[in-house]
Amino acid sequence: MNYNDFRDFEQGELHRADYIDNMPTTLPQLDYLVIACHPDDAEIGCGGTILSLKAQGVKVGVLDLTDGEPTPHGTLEIRRRETQEATAILGLDWRGQLNLPNRSLVADMDTRKLVAGLIRQLRPRVLFTHYWEDAHPDHVAASALVDAARFWAKLSKTDMPGEPYYPAKLLYFPSMHLRLHLKPSFVLDVTPYHERKLQALRCYQSQFIAGRPTTSPTVFDDITARARYYGWTIGAMYGEPFLSREEVGVRDLQQLL
Ligand SMILES: [Zn+2]
Repeated sequence: MNYNDFRDFEQGELHRADYIDNMPTTLPQLDYLVIACHPDDAEIGCGGTILSLKAQGVKVGVLDLTDGEPTPHGTLEIRRRETQEATAILGLDWRGQLNLPNRSLVADMDTRKLVAGLIRQLRPRVLFTHYWEDAHPDHVAASALVDAARFWAKLSKTDMPGEPYYPAKLLYFPSMHLRLHLKPSFVLDVTPYHERKLQALRCYQSQFIAGRPTTSPTVFDDITARARYYGWTIGAMYGEPFLSREEVGVRDLQQLL
């Protein structure tokens, strides 16, 4: 994909960028944007957090960098339908997909420009993406790509669409391919949203159910155990961990658990 393709994306011609029915042709302004590699990564990494934000009425979007195919039990059509269903459960304000190459995602200059151009138009205050260390090379590339695109989004005198913009915060969610013991910068209590997160994940039948063992521990057991563990660390039932390279400020100590 090159920069011309991005212009097509802007005009809605790359139709795979539009998951949501009745999506407006112009890009909305968001408060939070999750940039994830494959459809289902956003749900795994921060599905509870998305639901928590939506319950507060803020605007949340997800940008999937690739279509996630090929996989053993998926097709483009199946993945698209599954993503639409999960998107509806999350109640997202916007979901887009860039047609970047799955399995060989590279954080190169064209890709950086593409993502930076989207950040300039969507203008989220907070970005989420993959933690920078993982076994999956696409996840590592996505993390580096978002780092670079965040900075590039604020450049002036460029041919990127939109006005210069710099998201105030960039938060990283751990992926599951490397089973790391990370020390998060903070853990968000997602107790009221965990079941609905699992509901969103179950939409991805081709990824988490088809061809997988039905006896415990299933992938849902693993995700629940991890959420329970991080919840335990903050005295809650379920939690989602996030890392930040910068310090995380708190405005209201009453909200501390
Ligand atoms: Zn992934």
